[in-house]
Amino acid sequence: MAKITLSNLAHRYAPLGSQASSYALTEINHVWQDGGAYALLGPSGCGKTTLLNIISGLIKPSQGRVLFDDNDVTGVPTEQRDIAQVFQFPVVYDTMTVRENLAFPLKNRGMAKPDIQARVALIAEMIGLEELLDSKARRLSPDAKQKISLGRGMVRESVNAILFDEPLTVIDPHLKWELRTQLKALHREFGHTMIYVTHDQTEAMTFADKVVMLHEGRIVQIGTPEDLFEQPEHTFVGHFIGSPGMNLLDASIHGDLAMLGERAVPLASAYGTVAGRTQIGIRPEHIRVMADGGLPAEIRAVENVGHRRIVRAHLDGHSLNIVLPPGEPLGTGTLHLQFPPDKINVYADEWRVAGSIR
Ligand code: ATP
Repeated sequence: MAKITLSNLAHRYAPLGSQASSYALTEINHVWQDGGAYALLGPSGCGKTTLLNIISGLIKPSQGRVLFDDNDVTGVPTEQRDIAQVFQFPVVYDTMTVRENLAFPLKNRGMAKPDIQARVALIAEMIGLEELLDSKARRLSPDAKQKISLGRGMVRESVNAILFDEPLTVIDPHLKWELRTQLKALHREFGHTMIYVTHDQTEAMTFADKVVMLHEGRIVQIGTPEDLFEQPEHTFVGHFIGSPGMNLLDASIHGDLAMLGERAVPLASAYGTVAGRTQIGIRPEHIRVMADGGLPAEIRAVENVGHRRIVRAHLDGHSLNIVLPPGEPLGTGTLHLQFPPDKINVYADEWRVAGSIR
């Protein structure tokens, strides 16, 4: 297992000066800890696969260095990086049994037979393949084949890192949560450095200790799922994480008050001069509804999604989403809202600004 350092890293696919010379990744400087479980999260085209391929060695970056512990591996080919990879679609040997497939990476490296047997049995149990160990891979469902791929990715104990590129795409939806949980358990058990690419926030948040959020080729936040939810560092994170995402309202900031037009919203901290486009962010789940007073919001629509209701409302022309528990029918009319001060984030030109603690 290794600590992974990305130093001054950037990548463009076409040479500078050519038509398509824009950067797929802009400057990245980060250290990923040995044994950490990271998810690379972001929408299509944000640079997740490019970054993963730079770490695996499939792509040589146009700028910067990749280090595994203190070794510079920037120019080292994939097969010499001692990593395991699991791709979107299963990579299995159809003519081999499940047992032979799982044993293959170990046999290749000359491990003793009894050790191989023990390791294969352990992985098969953890990934739910014990019953199928002697079945030929070609007879199995796509789900089971992808389980073999996952198992093969995990089977070697001494790898620098295990890289997953959207590994649950072909998995049946009801099995996804089960496999995510198993992967997390495997991480806890073996402590490998794991990097997991996905565009699915639920997958990222349930798998990773730290989520690396990419936006237009740049890392905009690395944090725990809770950090990304409670304190998004960039409005894009606020908007991308959550369903619906964070409400963002244009406001001017004056000390410990945010002014939404003429309405004053108290903040938990005081702010100095905040330049640029200023906004406040509040999660739909954090907005409180009061009997009267507060901020008057006009109900436009109510979506009942079983365990909660999403209210679409208007506050002085701003669209606002509010998440409420099930309850009395809301109908139409006005809601009286309160934004708890400690749940409000302040942004200037899309980036979060910290207030001074009072
Ligand atoms: P997806 O989830 O759709 O795979 P991604 O987040 O993994 O997206 P990348 O595939 O890394 O994003 O792509 C980042 C940017 O680089 C995109 O603008 C993409 O069009 C561009 N790109 C990716 N591969 C190539 C390539 N081989 N040649 C030129 N441009 C590329």
